[in-house]
Amino acid sequence: SPKLRFAPSPTGYLHLGGLRTALYNHLLARKLGGKWVLRVEDTDQTRYVEGAVESLLKTLDWAKLDFDEGPQKGGPNEPYFQSKRKDIYDRYLEPLLETGKAYHCFCTPERLASTRKRLQKEGSHEGYDRRCLGLSKDEVKERLEKGERNIVRFKSSSGSLTQEDLIYDPIHYDSLPLEDFVLRKSDGLPTYHFANVVDDHEMGITHVLRGEEWLPSTPKHLQLYDALGLSPPQFAHLPLLVNPDGSKLSKRAGDVRVEDYITKGYEPEALLNFVALMGWSPQSSSSDTPDPSTIPTSSSPRDASNEEVLPLAALIQAFSLEGVNKNRATMQSAKLDFLNRAHVRIKLADAAPGGGRDDVARRTCEVVRGKWPDLAGETVEEPYVARVLDALKDRLHTIVDVPSLGAYFFHPPVLDSALASQLFKSVPLETHRASLRSALSALSSAPFPSPAQPMDELDTATLKDVLDHLVDERGGKTKAKEVMNPLRWALTGQKVGAGVVDVVAVLGKDEVVRRLEAGLA
Ligand code: GLU
Repeated sequence: SPKLRFAPSPTGYLHLGGLRTALYNHLLARKLGGKWVLRVEDTDQTRYVEGAVESLLKTLDWAKLDFDEGPQKGGPNEPYFQSKRKDIYDRYLEPLLETGKAYHCFCTPERLASTRKRLQKEGSHEGYDRRCLGLSKDEVKERLEKGERNIVRFKSSSGSLTQEDLIYDPIHYDSLPLEDFVLRKSDGLPTYHFANVVDDHEMGITHVLRGEEWLPSTPKHLQLYDALGLSPPQFAHLPLLVNPDGSKLSKRAGDVRVEDYITKGYEPEALLNFVALMGWSPQSSSSDTPDPSTIPTSSSPRDASNEEVLPLAALIQAFSLEGVNKNRATMQSAKLDFLNRAHVRIKLADAAPGGGRDDVARRTCEVVRGKWPDLAGETVEEPYVARVLDALKDRLHTIVDVPSLGAYFFHPPVLDSALASQLFKSVPLETHRASLRSALSALSSAPFPSPAQPMDELDTATLKDVLDHLVDERGGKTKAKEVMNPLRWALTGQKVGAGVVDVVAVLGKDEVVRRLEAGLA
């Protein structure tokens, strides 16, 4: 049955490219009704970064990319850290050594470096002169017994090879470079190539989805499968993510670390949707040559379209490797904010207990409490905060914007009358006050939704009627601004912001009356 894996090396923080690889593995595994494994490839101790594994696990958990086997979760192939699987690799190495498909090499690092230099000068790509291939069995045994420092090399053969790929066209090699690459290092741990092949076999991996940068390593892996007498999994290499100028994705184009997006308050669903669309599209089936009429003509980065707004379940449904584009994918940051707003809206509409609305409200509560630790009571609880989100959902980039965009939902505004007269220059102060007075009387007798209850359409409609009526009374549509601007100012201290009806509905009658009275004082 289908089994995939995400096999990161803990050499730093998870970046968008890594998240995309994890996501595509998740999508294909779920799509095929299979499983996926998280395997930590940590055999290169020199590149290990402290805390990288914890950060990786936290990030996958945040993204809700749940693997079936792996660290903390367990599974039939424990442990899932390659550094702890040394015995398994040695077991696979033995028959290779016995049959001469691998050999010990005792050359010193200095000799290896000078040999490599010499061979390079001679125009050879082979890198090692095979000096230790000629050692007799006895000599090897003796030197090993003496504890001499050694590595194990693969004895390569220069055959031809065709490498199949589920995304790229087949790559044919007429004659492989005679490269006796290392299988086990002098610290006793396997190299990436060897551990990767052994584990993909041990763990029953059927599909390997990984970045394009591993394409040149694949011939080595295929030679190893062959030498071990194993059949290889199917490979699908994913085109690189690049900056708009074509260079490798880097900090220059914006943030590349997933943690930065978490800090900025993006919805996991939106970030996953965003990275899913980098190099894959739901409609196209293996479209290498896009229809020219669909290529955006404007030079500004295009927004995502509504058909591209896909929560994780919809991504799973829509995903296929045929939809993965062979061209390198550029990051279009502008799409992310569009997608984030769309996902906030989707979540707010999911009012089932423990659903999207609860989730986004809970996280926004944390943001608000973090901003104002002294605030207590109903306004920093989920039902109220969810209604604040309803009011701000078309204006925010992420939930982290709530305290700045909607401070007035949490604190009465400080009303500065100098600011008021400046804001309403064209309206005499007396007109302004008259509007506030009539708003106060209309709203204090209006039927109100009680605060902290989800506002249904009837509530909003009633309030809208009350305000429309007010506008009519004060001289009709042309005078709308004369009514709404003072009202917004008294309620929020601002000239622009969320819709007045929404603000009134969220604040609730008592608070609205208090603020209008303060505005008249
Ligand atoms: N450990 C490799 C990485 O960090 C995995 C490559 C592969 O998936 O084979 O990307």
